[in-house]
Amino acid sequence: DVPLAELDPEIAEVLERELGRQRGTLEMIASENFAPRAVLEAQGSVLTNKYAEGYPGRRYYGGCEFVDVAEELARERAKALFGAEHVNVQPHAGAQANAAVMHALIRPGDTIMGLELAHGGHLTHGMKINFSGRLFDVATYGVDAETHLVDMDKVRATALERRPKLIIAGWSAYARHLDFAAFRAIADEVGALLMVDMAHFAGLVAAGLHPSPVPYADVVTSTVHKTLSGPRSGVILCKAEHAKKIDSAVFPGQQGGPLMHVVAAKAVAFKIAATAEFRERQERTLRGAKAVASALTTDAARAAGVDVLTGGTDVHLVLADLRGSALDGQQAEDRLHEVGITVNRNAVPFDPRPPMVTSGLRIGTPALATRGFGDAEFAEVGEVIAAALQPEVDTAALRGRVADLAERFPLYPGFEEW
Ligand code: PLP
Repeated sequence: DVPLAELDPEIAEVLERELGRQRGTLEMIASENFAPRAVLEAQGSVLTNKYAEGYPGRRYYGGCEFVDVAEELARERAKALFGAEHVNVQPHAGAQANAAVMHALIRPGDTIMGLELAHGGHLTHGMKINFSGRLFDVATYGVDAETHLVDMDKVRATALERRPKLIIAGWSAYARHLDFAAFRAIADEVGALLMVDMAHFAGLVAAGLHPSPVPYADVVTSTVHKTLSGPRSGVILCKAEHAKKIDSAVFPGQQGGPLMHVVAAKAVAFKIAATAEFRERQERTLRGAKAVASALTTDAARAAGVDVLTGGTDVHLVLADLRGSALDGQQAEDRLHEVGITVNRNAVPFDPRPPMVTSGLRIGTPALATRGFGDAEFAEVGEVIAAALQPEVDTAALRGRVADLAERFPLYPGFEEW
């Protein structure tokens, strides 16, 4: 019963310093969020001790009577939240969820078709050295060079030519809604299954602020830790006809024992996601992203060569386009880091700069909305970002404004006494 600080002061210090970093800076990585206290409690619990291979009521281990309750709650809450016919809450992460779906529904050598990585797709949608690119024949679709939008005519043309077995709709960096009905129609036309990976926008879907892919897709995968703000993990929703295959692909196909502490934390996150407070937070998230996009499309921003892909956003993130700027993505990321704002550089479609440098930034608002930011604060954050990307920067002044915002919206107040 030795406390962590005594037993392992080095790791205790990492935790303490990371908490300080999260509290003292503004987190704008679009895939990150702050899990609420109740989620942290469930995730940091004794459920980590329990093996529970199998599914509720059908386990390969004794003593599962209580973890069964947690998994049932997680499944039922996710089903209700998204209107899904079947849910599997065991995937350890988003990548595992996607791997399980491919394992369940297609065979190595089959053709899959997803959004090009360089245009905003995810590694698991067919990147060359990812399992998805190694096991399957990959056809990709991209965005239009002018509009930066996914062009459904081109998606259809590629699907007709390549005849994929699985079409993947979803993204890691795209600021607009995808047309799920059009994807469904194309999948039906070529005899493909449709998987939507809603990892990024699942929280918006849960809140009813983004079109739901559930009615259209055979299978919907997601992470639970992005806009949903649950524990780091994955989930699969599917039509009843695919339930058996999906479940056996997750276990025993892909994974061993489920992480029951994480499953319990997912149940908590799904409960929270059904509340009015959660919806209100997602509304602030969306308005915040629009405010940041506005700040990066002013005359002053454009004069500095800064723009926003697609001219704005419908979701929780903004893709800053720095192709006209003297700053590359790496330099812009560093500039924002200096003033206390954390973002990630991101390739823009048709990026002239190399992938480690890039000409873009991906800027997300979910974590700050969780922290309590409203319209006025997001407008100010937008101003600070735009000012930091100008040729001449008063770094100290901007850092002061960031520190002031961070102080006004304390993160995990009272954490030390929990
Ligand atoms: N799918 C999409 C669209 C993502 O953006 C991500 C993560 O960034 C994942 C899947 C993978 O999630 P994880 O990092 O939990 O494996």
